[in-house]
Amino acid sequence: MNRSPEALPLSIDGLKMSFGDHRVLDGIQLDVEPGEILVLLGPSGCGKTTLLRTVAGLERPVGGTISIGSRCVVGAGTWVAPERRRIGMVFQDWALFPHLSVARNVAYGLARAERGNGRVHEVLDTVGLTEFGGRTPATLSGGQQQRVALARALAPRPSVLLLDEPFSNLDTALRVDLRTEIHRILLELGITAVFVTHDQEEAFVLGDRVAVMHDGHIEQVATPADLYMRPATRWVASFVGTVNLLAGDGLGARADTPIGAIPLTESHRGAIEVLVRPEDLHISDGDQAEVELVEYYGHDVMLLVRLQDGTRLSVRTPPSFMASRGDRVQVNYRGTCTAAFPAST
Ligand code: ATP
Repeated sequence: MNRSPEALPLSIDGLKMSFGDHRVLDGIQLDVEPGEILVLLGPSGCGKTTLLRTVAGLERPVGGTISIGSRCVVGAGTWVAPERRRIGMVFQDWALFPHLSVARNVAYGLARAERGNGRVHEVLDTVGLTEFGGRTPATLSGGQQQRVALARALAPRPSVLLLDEPFSNLDTALRVDLRTEIHRILLELGITAVFVTHDQEEAFVLGDRVAVMHDGHIEQVATPADLYMRPATRWVASFVGTVNLLAGDGLGARADTPIGAIPLTESHRGAIEVLVRPEDLHISDGDQAEVELVEYYGHDVMLLVRLQDGTRLSVRTPPSFMASRGDRVQVNYRGTCTAAFPAST
């Protein structure tokens, strides 16, 4: 496979963008390393697509700078046209031309001189579609069409690849297969990529780092493991993964909670909420809580239990653990030091 000749960093500083009075990007600060897959994760409407479109040059920001490598493409007095930014983009709706063959779709973004030099064949080979050049998009499956869209975006050898929810139109099984395949291709190419999703599992699986976006700003940028175990804010903690925010009393390096003492990563005093992941709770026979709900996932089971004071906790147990609604149980914390946040009022 031909690796990206020049993976470049992408640097965004103080980026602001509004639609009328509505501020959609509110001072975005983001650095993507050369060859890194950075995933933008956030709820619907937080501004992910607008950020990608602004980087691609499809929207004009009202402030801030964007640089690709050492070249400023947006800044005070600077505006580089989209076609001159060397950015490839893959959209959720694939946007293929239905009347053109796969090969001609891929050739579309190439300079005339490059169309006949084997580049189209090369990128179709990269995405595993060598045999499909003569077909029209309508004769391909959804997953194959998305791979054509990827080949088209890669053909001009972009410095940065932007992918906006590229799997959202695919059913679950195909989505997971294609995700693995595209992940492998991006890593082998070593291209700098920014990938947008609102799906936390997708973000964790694909991202070298994940930028969590909320209401027009970036809340935290970190590796998936850091985000999960050390969320910087209460909002990130509750958005990323299933979480219990357990009311407790900060006693310095530990918290007193309804299920006993829990060690904290940072010292806290007074009313706090302690981050407790479901897999850090252990269930045994007892009389402290009642099982209200059992959700069987195959690889594990999620229990919703209710303590005597009314507190509800999600608890992840192995699939072999047999519990039924109404069972009386004991809940113990088995995790390491965890984060806590001042109690919300
Ligand atoms: P989703 O995950 O649903 O695609 P998103 O995080 O990508 O959401 P954006 O599409 O960037 O969010 O939209 C952010 C906000 O900007 C939304 O409130 C949206 O309604 C608004 N918006 C987006 N495009 C326009 C436009 N062309 N004109 C006016 N408002 C817009």
